[in-house]
Amino acid sequence: MAEAKTLKEQFWDPVAGFGVTFRTMFKKVVTEQYPFEKLPTAPRFHGRHQLNRWPDGLEKCIGCELCAWACPADAIYVEGADNTEDARFSPGERYGRVYQINYLRCIFCGLCIEACPTRSLTMINEYEIANDNRQDLIWTKEDLLAPLLRGMEQPPHPMRLGDTEQDYYVDAPRLARKWGYPDPVKGEVK
Ligand code: SF4
Ligand code: SF4
Repeated sequence: MAEAKTLKEQFWDPVAGFGVTFRTMFKKVVTEQYPFEKLPTAPRFHGRHQLNRWPDGLEKCIGCELCAWACPADAIYVEGADNTEDARFSPGERYGRVYQINYLRCIFCGLCIEACPTRSLTMINEYEIANDNRQDLIWTKEDLLAPLLRGMEQPPHPMRLGDTEQDYYVDAPRLARKWGYPDPVKGEVK
């Protein structure tokens, strides 16, 4: 047989329970009004990927596929191709001709950006990538490439910072300043 409730259990405990509710009613509301108010993320938040450019607009990706091999979810597809003097997309021998990230598979772990030897691939703070169909969640190179900033030129075009790829990999910041290119981090979108 169940024991009879004490007076405290009958009268005080329910009031104490509602006390929590009343206290909370007068506290500052912490609900975020997304999507009407979009708050900034933490600075190192892993959002969508970006394929970066050199200050003259050439692409940093060399089509090496290291990002694809590092990906535990098999979400990246890369096909490299040779640059020619008539059609140059990156400073070295090769560039990423086809580049895709499948956001149906990606788990935003960041292993791909750690594997990239040229810092071509990074993750930015943008997180609004949801979509209502599967096809549009496979992002192509055109979707992923960084915007052209002031002073940048759409590839293909010749190397503007220097004559060799070492000029880019070793000396790009100094040469960019010398030729008057804006800092790509602080630069303005064209
Ligand atoms: S963040 Fe992780 S899962 Fe997503 S593409 Fe990069 S390595 Fe693959
Ligand atoms: S993004 Fe980086 S790791 Fe991936 S193919 Fe391009 S250069 Fe290689």
